[in-house]
Amino acid sequence: MKAHLQNNIFQTISEAAEQLGIHAYVIGGFVRDIFLGKESKDIDIVAIGDGIELANKVSVKLKGSNVSIFKNFGTAMIKFGDIEIEFVGARKESYRGESRKPDVEPGTLEDDQNRRDFTMNALALSLQKENFGELLDPFGGLKDIENKIIRTPLEPDITYSDDPLRMMRAIRFAAQHDFTIEENSFQSICKNAERINIVSKERIADELNKIILSPVPSVGFKLLFDSKLLHHIFPEMVKLQGVEIKDGVSHKDNFYHTLQVLDNISKNTDNLWLRWSAILHDIAKPATKRFDKNAGWTFHGHEDKGSRMVPKIFADLKLPLNEKMKYVQKLVLLHLRPIVLSKEVVTDSAVRRLLFEASDDIDDLMTLCEADITSKNDKKVQRYLKNFELVRQKLKEVEEKDNIRNWQPPVSGEEIMKAFNLKPGREIGIIKNAIREAILEGEIGSNYEDAHRFMLAKGAELGLKPANL
Ligand code: ATP
Ligand code: MG
Repeated sequence: MKAHLQNNIFQTISEAAEQLGIHAYVIGGFVRDIFLGKESKDIDIVAIGDGIELANKVSVKLKGSNVSIFKNFGTAMIKFGDIEIEFVGARKESYRGESRKPDVEPGTLEDDQNRRDFTMNALALSLQKENFGELLDPFGGLKDIENKIIRTPLEPDITYSDDPLRMMRAIRFAAQHDFTIEENSFQSICKNAERINIVSKERIADELNKIILSPVPSVGFKLLFDSKLLHHIFPEMVKLQGVEIKDGVSHKDNFYHTLQVLDNISKNTDNLWLRWSAILHDIAKPATKRFDKNAGWTFHGHEDKGSRMVPKIFADLKLPLNEKMKYVQKLVLLHLRPIVLSKEVVTDSAVRRLLFEASDDIDDLMTLCEADITSKNDKKVQRYLKNFELVRQKLKEVEEKDNIRNWQPPVSGEEIMKAFNLKPGREIGIIKNAIREAILEGEIGSNYEDAHRFMLAKGAELGLKPANL
C-alpha cells in the first residue's frame, strides 16, 4: 500500500536522507491523519541515524529555513510556513518502575514503532526513493483505523504501565474519533488506572481538555468513569454520580445529568471554558444536598458554593487561575438566574440586574442555561426552550433601552467629589451605590441627567452641601 505524499517537502527530506546515506520515514499522527482523512500540520520524521543531522541538511536544502535543535532530546524542528516538522533518530526505549521517562538508545524502525502507543500511531511511510510513500504497518494499524479500534502494539499492560499517560490518550482518541478501545486494552486501563498518579498534572489536563473539546465529550467521560481514571484525576466529579431514595422520593443522577448538559452545550460552542462551566455548574450538589419531608430533595445554594469551589478544582487540575477561571465561576454562580426569570412574571429590574451581573457573558450564560434543560419529556423541554426565548427577547429589549451590559456609572466619583466639595471618603461610595441601585431598580433612567439629579438629592439626604452654594 502506498500513500500519496502531496507536499514537496517530503521529496526534499528524501533527497537529504539519500545524500546522508540514511533512511527516513514519516511516522505517527501525521500518517494516521492521512488515513482518517484529516489534515494535520505536525509532521514527525524518524531517521535511522542522526535526526539532527538530517534536519540540518533539509534546512540547507530549504534555503536556510530556521531549524531549532534540542540536543538533550536528540530532536530538531523546522518551521516551514504553518507546518512544523520534527526530526528524531529512531530509538529503542526501556522503562523502569516509577517514572514515565524511559532509558533511550538508538534503534531500528521496528524498535521505534514498538514504542508507539497505538497501532494507528505506529504507521510509517517510507521516504526512500525505491519505495517512496510505501506504508510500513507492522501491527495492522490500517485495519484498526478502518474498524475504528484503538489497540496497543505490545501487550496492553506493558504499554500502559510503561507510560500511564497513554491511558488518557486512548480515551482521548476514542472521544475525538469515535473509536472503540479494544477489550483487553480497556481491561488493562482499568487495572493500571492508579498509575496515572505518576503522570504530571499538566499532561493530564492537556488530555482532559482535548476530551472536553471532542464532538461528544460524554463518550470520553464515561470511559474515564468506567475505568476509574476519573476517580484519580477529578474526584469531585465522581461524587456527582448516584441516586438516593428517601420516603420513595429520588433525585436525578447528577453525573449523567452533567454529561448531558456538556453534550448539549458542545453542539452550540467550542469555547473550552464554557464547556468547563457546564461540567462544573452542579459540582456543589453533593455538598448541599438535603432531604426535607415536604420539599423532597433540595440543593439550596449549590450555585454559590459551586462557584466558590472552582478555584481549588482549577488549582488541583493545574488549570489556569486567571480570568478564564473567573469566567467559569461567574457562570456557575449565575446559572439558575435565567431559569428564575423564565418562571416568574419578569420585571425589568430583575432583567437589568442579571444583565449588570453577567455583563458581556450574558449570551454564554443563556447558552449554558439552555443546555441545562435535560428533561426526558420532550414537551417539557420545548416549553422551557420557549420560555427562554422570551427571556432572550426581554434581555434584548431592556438592553436596547438601558445599555446595562457594559454599564459604566453615568456620574463618576470625581464628579461627586466636585459637586459637594468632598475629599475621598465613604460618602462617595454610598452615593455611587445609590445611583446604581436606583438605575437597576428602574427608579431613574440610565443616563447622565437622571443620575446627576439623583446625586444632588441623595447628597442633600446625607446632609452634604452642594459646592456651588
Ligand atoms: P495529536 O497531535 O492529534 O494530538 P498525535 O498522536 O499526533 O495526536 P503527538 O503528541 O503529536 O500526538 O505525538 C505524535 C506521535 O508520537 C504519536 O502519533 C505517537 O506515535 C507518538 N506518541 C506521542 N505520545 C506518545 C506516548 N505517550 N507514548 C507512545 N507514543 C507516543
Ligand atoms: Mg501530532
